[in-house]
Amino acid sequence: MAHANDIWAASTLAVTAGRPTGPGDPLNQPPVLASNFLAGGAADYARFGTPSSAAFEAALGALEGGQAVAFSTGMAASAAILEGLPAGATVLTASNIYHGVRTLLADMQSRDRLYDRSVDATDLRAVETALEGAALLWIETPSNPLIQVLDLASLCALAASRNIPVAVDSTFATPVLQRPLEFGATYVLHSATKYIGGHSDLMMGAVVTADESAELTEQIVRRRSLHGAFPGAMECFLALRGIRTMALRVQQSEASAQVLAERLVDHPAVTRVFYPGLAADPGHELARAQMSGFGGMLSFCVESEDVADAVLARTKLIVMATSLGGVESTAERRNRWNEGAPTGLIRFSVGIEDVEDIWADLDAALQ
Ligand code: PLP
Repeated sequence: MAHANDIWAASTLAVTAGRPTGPGDPLNQPPVLASNFLAGGAADYARFGTPSSAAFEAALGALEGGQAVAFSTGMAASAAILEGLPAGATVLTASNIYHGVRTLLADMQSRDRLYDRSVDATDLRAVETALEGAALLWIETPSNPLIQVLDLASLCALAASRNIPVAVDSTFATPVLQRPLEFGATYVLHSATKYIGGHSDLMMGAVVTADESAELTEQIVRRRSLHGAFPGAMECFLALRGIRTMALRVQQSEASAQVLAERLVDHPAVTRVFYPGLAADPGHELARAQMSGFGGMLSFCVESEDVADAVLARTKLIVMATSLGGVESTAERRNRWNEGAPTGLIRFSVGIEDVEDIWADLDAALQ
């Protein structure tokens, strides 16, 4: 299998990493639809690992600069990290994280399994105080749905000074734009369902740990095997195929997101735009420092919940749907999940359609 090369750019790694290398091998790992393998080889029983998961993990690991472990969903990957904590431990979470993880923590808290302590992670002083007694710092940058950018280097340094591991949900950034391990993250989490798969046709997740953390990687693999949170061969195949074009897709989405965000700022029906590519956005400078681009996710507010619903009912190209990171432009009024987002907030995953077509659709819907 092709190995990571430190010199190559993300776009090159995305195409090459995890490729078979033997004479006569296919250029890419095909799906191996098997649960059982002849004893004595690299694969054994599919819940412990397959050629398909190994190829996906090699590619994602190369992109993140660590060891990737594939999961059936992003939530399964999140649970594998949280389940590693001792009973009664406190997880310090950034106030804006994916609502599914927040709900999982609430469920664990209701059984005294773990405690969720939330902090405004843009306030480093507050984080410093709140880290006292925490067993894990859980952050998401850029965040869902406020596209808030957090200071990876400072947060990881604060946690490291207290020997507290840090999990970074990097789903919105993708490894094309951000590599949290380089800033000291312990775990990088992905919902591969989103940009990595990229075509709204699969569910998968991943946890990536540093190359030097072999023991941590083993623990994550062990929990995946014990919980049975293993991805199927077709999913791994499709996700790897998604990785091959991820850099191009992300670049296109991002270029359009920048144009759309700038136009939305000047739109009379829009009261606020959240996009780190805007110079006025509070996360702009941080994003410039720690990401190689601003990504394809933006959020904006209209006057009210009703107006947001009316706008989304009028779009013809932009699809009203909850997931994100696909080739299609998708949007939703985020507060329908009751997660405390501003009521008129529309979260918008910018697809790879022509930007003028997207704008025409959005502008007409906003009238
Ligand atoms: N993290 C983020 C930022 C997400 O947006 C999601 C899903 O929307 C998840 C994690 C969970 O991933 P999955 O839906 O693949 O379980």
